Amino acid sequence: METTLRGVGVSHGVAIGQVRHMGTAVLEPPAKQVPVDDTPREQGRAHKAVEAVAADLVARGNLAGGEAQAVLEAQALMAQDPELMADVERRIAVGSTAERAVYDAFASYRALLAQAGDYLAGRVADLDDVRNRIVARLLGVPMPGVPDSDEPYVLIARDLAPADTALLDPALVLGFVTEEGGPTSHSAILARAMGVPAVVAMPGATDLSEGAVIAVDGSTGEVFVDPTESRRAQLEAAAAERKAALAASSGPGATSDGHHVPLLANVGGPADVPAAVEAGAEGVGLFRTEFLFLDDSKQAPSEEKQVAAYRQVLEAFPEGRVVVRVLDAGADKPLDFLTPADEPNPALGVRGLRTLLDHPEVLRTQLRALAAAAEGLPVHLEVMAPMVADRADAKAFADACREAGLRAKFGAMVEIPSAALRARSIFQEVEFVSLGTNDLAQYTFAADRQVGALSRLQDPWQPALLDLVAAAADAARATGKSCGVCGEAASDPLLACVLTGLGVTSLSMGAASIPYVRATLAMHTLAQCERAAAAARAADSAQEARVAARAVLSGE
Ligand code: PEP
Ligand code: MG
Repeated sequence: METTLRGVGVSHGVAIGQVRHMGTAVLEPPAKQVPVDDTPREQGRAHKAVEAVAADLVARGNLAGGEAQAVLEAQALMAQDPELMADVERRIAVGSTAERAVYDAFASYRALLAQAGDYLAGRVADLDDVRNRIVARLLGVPMPGVPDSDEPYVLIARDLAPADTALLDPALVLGFVTEEGGPTSHSAILARAMGVPAVVAMPGATDLSEGAVIAVDGSTGEVFVDPTESRRAQLEAAAAERKAALAASSGPGATSDGHHVPLLANVGGPADVPAAVEAGAEGVGLFRTEFLFLDDSKQAPSEEKQVAAYRQVLEAFPEGRVVVRVLDAGADKPLDFLTPADEPNPALGVRGLRTLLDHPEVLRTQLRALAAAAEGLPVHLEVMAPMVADRADAKAFADACREAGLRAKFGAMVEIPSAALRARSIFQEVEFVSLGTNDLAQYTFAADRQVGALSRLQDPWQPALLDLVAAAADAARATGKSCGVCGEAASDPLLACVLTGLGVTSLSMGAASIPYVRATLAMHTLAQCERAAAAARAADSAQEARVAARAVLSGE
C-alpha cells in the first residue's frame, strides 16, 4: 500500500526507483564467546562469506575492466589468502564468532602490512575494504560507503559528506533522500550539481527497506513508498510538463522589462562544466576549489594539478566571467593537513580564509596556479575569499592576490553577519562581494547547517536573512560595485526574484536550477521584484515572507 513521507525538497524533479542505503561504518563485532559445538558452523559461515565476497569482487572486475579489474582481482586474492583464512579458523576454534574472528585476523594482518614499507602500507585501505565487505556480509548489514549496484537506484543516507559523494556514479544515482541535512547541506548542493531530485531532513528515511520502490518529488519534498500506478503517472506527467516549459526559456537572465541579472553556475571542478554550459550559464559564479583538495586530505594538490583543473574551467567560458573561490577548508570540509583536529566548535573555528591566513604558502600556491591558468585566456577572472569577517580580512586577501601578481578582480564572500552589516567597509578593499547565504543563514540563526532538525532556521526566506542581503546590496549600490548571491537561495526561482528586487546583481546556482530561475525571472518586471522584496522583508517568518512574495509576483 502506498504511504507518504515528507521532508524538505531541495532539488527539482521526480525520481522513481529502488532504495539503496549508503552503508554506515562497519561496527566492531562484539567479542562474545560461542560454544565449541558451534565451531564448524561458524567456520562454514566465514568460508561462505569470504567466497561470496571474492566472487563479487571478481565479477565487478570483469564488468569494470582495465586498471580497476586488476585492483579488484587483487582484493579478491586478499580475501582468500590461505594464511589469513587459517588465522580466522584458529580464532573461531577458541570461541570467536565468525565476524569477530575475521575482524581480529584482518587487524593483525593489517598491522603487519602497515609496517612493511610504502607499497604494502598503501594496500591497507584495500585490505580494510575487503574486511568491511566480509564483516558486513556476516552481520547482514549493507556494505559501508556507496552502495554496490549495477542498476540505477535512489540513494538513502543519514547525510552525505563531500568525501562520500565524490565516489558516486552519476549514471546510477536517480535521486537522494537523507534523514539529516538541511536545504544548504552538501547533500542538497551535490544533488543540484548532479541535477537529480532530492529530499533532505526526512524523518524515517533510514528506516526505508533496502530494495523498496519509492517515488521522490524533489519540488514538494514528498516521498511515496510503493507508489501506485496512477501516482507514478501523475508525477511523471507533471515532471515532463515542467521540463517542456523550461526548455522553451533560453538566453541571458533578465526580468520581463529587460533588467539583466547574469545567471551563473556553481561548479566543483571541470566535471560540472558541461552541464553549466548546456544550461546556458553566463559564466561561473562560484568555483568551489576545495573539491580538488578533498581527493587527498593529507596534502595540497600540486601547483601543476591545480593549473590544469583551473584552466579547464576557465577555457569553458571564453569572454565569460569565472569567479573562483580560494580553498574553503574546515568545519564540514576538514583537511587533515590544515584543519585543527581539536576544535570544540569547528564551524566557529579556523576555517575558510582563516585557515589560509594561517597557511600562507597554500594560498600563495593557489593564487599562482590561478594566475598561470588564466594566462593568455580572454576570460574575466574574479577571485574571492570565503568567510571574510571584516575589512582587515578583506585587505589581507587582496594584498595576497596583489603579491601573487594575479590579474583579476578580488572579492569577498559575505557569509558572516558582520560582513553583511559592514559591507561598505569591506568594499574599501575589494571590487565585489558574493553572498554565501548557506553559511550566512547558519551564522545568523546560530543553526548548524548540517542538522536537519534545524531546517526551519536555515530557510533563506527568513526576513532577518533578507535584511542582511539588503544591507550588502545597498552598500554595493552606494559604492558602484557588484553584489552577487552564490548560496543556495539563488536557486529558488521565487526567491531569485526577491533577491533581484533587493538589488542583487547576479545569481549563481547549480546548473540544473538555471532554467527554472531564468523562466521565473522572465515573467516579472524589476518593479514587481522590488515590491515582492519589500513584502517579504515586512513579514515575520519565512513562511509568511514566501506567501507575501508569491502574492505580489502572481499579481493577487
Ligand atoms: C555558502 O555558504 O552559501 C556558500 C556558497 O559556500 P558553501 O556552501 O560552499 O559553504
Ligand atoms: Mg560557505
